[in-house]
Amino acid sequence: MPEKYHIKTTPVPPRLPRIGKYGIVDWREDCARCHNCVKKACVYDRHRQEAEYIRNLKYFDFLFFECMGCFSCVQNCTKDLLCLTINSEYQRLGNHYWTPEIIHITWQQAETAAVPVSGAGYRGKFAGQGFDAMWTDMSEIVRPTRDGIHGREYISTSVDIGKKPSYLEFDENKKTVFPSSIVDIPMPMIVDMNPAEYTLARLEPLIIEAVRFTDLIAIIDSAKWPGAVNESQMADIDKYLPHIAFHLNPDAPEPPIEILSKTRMVEIPDNDAVLDRIKELKKTIPELVISIRVNLDATGVQRAVELAAAGVEVIHVIADFNGDEIGPKNEKLAKPRFVKEMIREIHTTLIKDGIRDEVTVIAGSGIALPEHMAKALLCGADLISTYLPLLISLECHLCETCKPGIFCPARLEEIDFEYGVGRMRNLIAAWHLQLIELMGAMGMREARRLRGDVGRAMFFEELEEEIFGTLFGSKKRV
Ligand code: SF4
Ligand code: SF4
Repeated sequence: MPEKYHIKTTPVPPRLPRIGKYGIVDWREDCARCHNCVKKACVYDRHRQEAEYIRNLKYFDFLFFECMGCFSCVQNCTKDLLCLTINSEYQRLGNHYWTPEIIHITWQQAETAAVPVSGAGYRGKFAGQGFDAMWTDMSEIVRPTRDGIHGREYISTSVDIGKKPSYLEFDENKKTVFPSSIVDIPMPMIVDMNPAEYTLARLEPLIIEAVRFTDLIAIIDSAKWPGAVNESQMADIDKYLPHIAFHLNPDAPEPPIEILSKTRMVEIPDNDAVLDRIKELKKTIPELVISIRVNLDATGVQRAVELAAAGVEVIHVIADFNGDEIGPKNEKLAKPRFVKEMIREIHTTLIKDGIRDEVTVIAGSGIALPEHMAKALLCGADLISTYLPLLISLECHLCETCKPGIFCPARLEEIDFEYGVGRMRNLIAAWHLQLIELMGAMGMREARRLRGDVGRAMFFEELEEEIFGTLFGSKKRV
């Protein structure tokens, strides 16, 4: 039996004070100095920790906000001197899609490599926009898949990238011939390039180290080569190249053939001459898997289907970093489509055309949590690509003003290599554990079988339409 995929982790504590959601304001005036002060009773010992934090203050721009919000001290103070407050710094993290909760939870995972536990049940909303309008069906939470979660049986999270033949071919020795190569990766995830909005940090050497450790693949802009690796990585470059997929940037010189031929996959941005370019590359390096990067704008879905029909083996579809269709946004005219709807449309059209197995669909953008990875697969992607969670794992705030030259509140220019790689590795490991949890709860033992299995999911829009559509009219686009 092959060895189980397991990522070895160790905790990597944050470099900076934690930006928690709650803090306690202590109006000391009129304090009765009770000998059994409620502050001493904090089960998390936060009041003492805060006093110590202030005594050794290192960062004047970080206040102490690590209260767990249990209200115990607030409710029990005999003079009502304590009150709970929400950290305004916390509320400023991210944007409407990459919410403070997502950023906070990503920091926790990067620190502990564990599945985040929210405590006394989930008290939040049960439906929302985007992936939050989709639920996974966990009614299969029974043996044997629980055994998979606890390691007694195997839940496989491996997926393939490349064209799968629709029939077998044999050579004169009756051996099977595979007309194209397939890349097998242990998790349905690759690391994408940074979106244009987040260019401040140079993370490529850290990402390359983290994907090598976790046996994944990272897409690297060829314009950044050879600067994408550090000196020690360059000295041992053969070890790293199988984990790099160059994005062949038309505005930059291509990496040399001897480098390209040691990689397993490359990516080409979509253009009119893309099919000729594929032929040219295949002639030079036949075993290379070639992916075409297609922007999900108004014509993106149709273009992805056209490329699949033309025989392209991998299509990497990309919306904007919030998961919305690329193009001018005008909420009053029409809401941009979300990536999950566009993936479903591509998947179902390819099934209708009878070519779904001949192409791998990689869905990028808007993948902020491990549940988004599973949901994108259920909508029809073979695997996902993401970048921002790795940036966030380094305590990034996802500021809307991020660009080179500004003051970075996460001091990303000061990060240590070991710290950065460790945090990214921990995050990937936590996502892997959560994927196994999700699959176990859905009764699935094979990530390849998640693709397009909408029977394991419920969609808010569809349920709403079914129940209320006949009463109040349909909301469907015409
Ligand atoms: S609210 Fe709870 S966690 Fe926060 S300081 Fe008071 S007792 Fe501690
Ligand atoms: S913390 Fe802000 S400025 Fe620094 S890398 Fe992240 S988004 Fe950019």
